[in-house]
Amino acid sequence: MKRHYNFSAGPATLPTEVMQQAADEMLDWHGSGMSVMEMSHRGKEFMSIYHDALQDLRDLMNIPSNYKILFMQGGAIAENAIIPMNLVGMKPQPATADYIHTGHWSGRSILDARKYCKVNIAATAETSHYTHVPARDTWKLSTDAAYVHICTNETIGGVEYHFTPDVGDVPLVADMSSQILSREVDVSRFGVIYGGAQKNIGPAGVTIVVVREDLLGHALPICPSAFDWKVVAENDSMFNTPPTYSIYIAGLVFKWLKRQGGVPAIEKVNIAKAALLYDYLDSTEFYRNPVAKDCRSRMNVPFSLHKESLNELFLDGAKERGLVQLKGHSSVGGMRASIYNAMPIEGVRALVDYMRDFEKQHG
Ligand SMILES: *Cc1c(COP(=O)(O)O)cnc(C)c1O
Repeated sequence: MKRHYNFSAGPATLPTEVMQQAADEMLDWHGSGMSVMEMSHRGKEFMSIYHDALQDLRDLMNIPSNYKILFMQGGAIAENAIIPMNLVGMKPQPATADYIHTGHWSGRSILDARKYCKVNIAATAETSHYTHVPARDTWKLSTDAAYVHICTNETIGGVEYHFTPDVGDVPLVADMSSQILSREVDVSRFGVIYGGAQKNIGPAGVTIVVVREDLLGHALPICPSAFDWKVVAENDSMFNTPPTYSIYIAGLVFKWLKRQGGVPAIEKVNIAKAALLYDYLDSTEFYRNPVAKDCRSRMNVPFSLHKESLNELFLDGAKERGLVQLKGHSSVGGMRASIYNAMPIEGVRALVDYMRDFEKQHG
């Protein structure tokens, strides 16, 4: 059996150790005689898996005690609607929410928010074709916003916030789908952090929501009960049947991350991985990354070849070397290397070696 270096943007590669453990425990979890997939979510076996996952995530992100961790479903895209439904009720209707538009995913958030509130685009990166994060001092925030929404890492554009913006007392809401656990973040600066698991945590199916307690209990009457954060919190994320197997794998990934030394240790590796790839991209005219240098993502590195006609050849050659899922998003074209926590530095080295050889052959 051979596992490739998998650069998919999501669902993305997971640590081999974790997959091996899941395989070993597949038919009989810890002598229970059952697979995790077959357990009642309310039984003591699954409850122990759930509580471990909660505590490990709280430890890894240093989540303060006045924040709830919810395991939901529907992905970040469902949260784009769930967020306004839970937060705009804090203000007289119709309420306003501020959004920072930095690319595809914040754009998607804006489209859904417009169904539930007035959206003020407080800043946009449109002028640079979404290749930078607008500086905080250019943002035109409303005086009465229910919250300010950002996407801290644009997975498609490869644009990342390398700062946490100060928005005063207004809750800061962040889509961290492709950034969560990749670097240290001061959770206390945020009202809500959310993200789908399938980038940096585990399989698709579970959505992580970290929410400050005072933001619970404001859901609009139209909000489905299963999406009312207060209801979800009061029911330990078990108001409806949670995605038990996804939570179990996420829990194994949390333990794996702790064994690596936690978030500060993996952040160092992530910095080294990104530097390896960007330094090479910057050293040649053969490849190009369009993102402003101080806004480049550590997790998702889009790049194009100077001749588009070489794209297929590049992808075929990469596959021969066991480097897969490098094709860029259809809206951008070119290539994209997603180098999440589970991508070892050896994988990035193998990619750079291949890129160098390909350039020698075709440059
Ligand atoms: C992948 C991604 C999404 C979409 O997530 P779903 O799980 O498909 O809902 C939203 N935002 C960001 C930043 C993403 O990377």
